[in-house]
Amino acid sequence: MKKKISLIIPSYNEQESLPILYDSLCGVAEKMPDYEFEFLFVDDGSTDGTKAVLRKLAAEDKRTIYFSFSRNFGKESAMYCGFCNAKGDYVAVMDADMQDPPSLLPEMVKDLETGEYDSVATRRVSRQGEPPIRSFFARIFYRIINKISDADIVDGARDFRLMTREMVNAIIRMCEYNRFSKGIFGWIGFRTKWIPFENIERVAGQTKWNFWGLFKYSLDGIINFSQVPLVLSSWMGIFFTILAFVMILFVIVRRLIFGDPVQGWASLVCIITLIGGIQLFCIGILGQYISKMYLEVKNRPHYIIGETNEKNVNRIK
Ligand code: UDP
Ligand code: MG
Repeated sequence: MKKKISLIIPSYNEQESLPILYDSLCGVAEKMPDYEFEFLFVDDGSTDGTKAVLRKLAAEDKRTIYFSFSRNFGKESAMYCGFCNAKGDYVAVMDADMQDPPSLLPEMVKDLETGEYDSVATRRVSRQGEPPIRSFFARIFYRIINKISDADIVDGARDFRLMTREMVNAIIRMCEYNRFSKGIFGWIGFRTKWIPFENIERVAGQTKWNFWGLFKYSLDGIINFSQVPLVLSSWMGIFFTILAFVMILFVIVRRLIFGDPVQGWASLVCIITLIGGIQLFCIGILGQYISKMYLEVKNRPHYIIGETNEKNVNRIK
């Protein structure tokens, strides 16, 4: 029996890119006659004609399966939906905008077939075409998160990777509400081969990420995969408590030796505001973790499927 390859394509307002990607995927599938393919398009609540494009593709090609969300749940939820519904022996995630070249697939499959790896992942070696400020902060983010978390996250890593069934099962088991796939891939381990490639600009449409969105996503990544900010705030607390004791001693000794000079109002105010600021900062860090716990505990679904051409699908998960 032929092995099956599932391709998961999260798509949000990608009506122009999808036909281009679909053609390219058909070309790749033709070159790999020993494998069966399924294309899992996850329409993440698009407001343009994406759903209509998918309906049309599905009517023409029975390899095409689409899940259309009831609203925009985010790329992470779209990928999770793909993983939960993929039936392939090998599963890959790829962007709809051709930034993840389908032409790499045959090479990736070959690497998995050797049995030496459980996943073949891609990383961009250049970031040309990207605003320099975005590249700069991306580098800082990767440096920080790798220092303070268990998950090994490679700089320039894309979500585009081909995985074995075992690895996908592990990902499905990681059913947390706050998802950060780059961290999840790193955390579950397995043997990964990295394929470097040059950055490619999207074929059509626009990026869905602005600077603020990426900043929040990177903070989520840190909070989801590291307890270091919490530890740091505890250490800061200990440091200031010791400092306060030393200062109290100093003030008592000075009082005994020199009497009580009424001075130091300005320095007092500075100290109070500094410590007040640090306290609020630490409470803020605590708040971030608690807000994540709040969402996890509520156990809300990751996504709601409004329309699909697949039978027997868990529409709310
Ligand atoms: N995407 C999605 N839901 C969203 C935002 C993006 O499914 O809320 C998809 C999008 O359609 C694309 C992929 O995620 O296939 C990557 O998005 P984009 O190209 O905008 O990000 P960039 O490549 O600029 O980082
Ligand atoms: Mg893109």
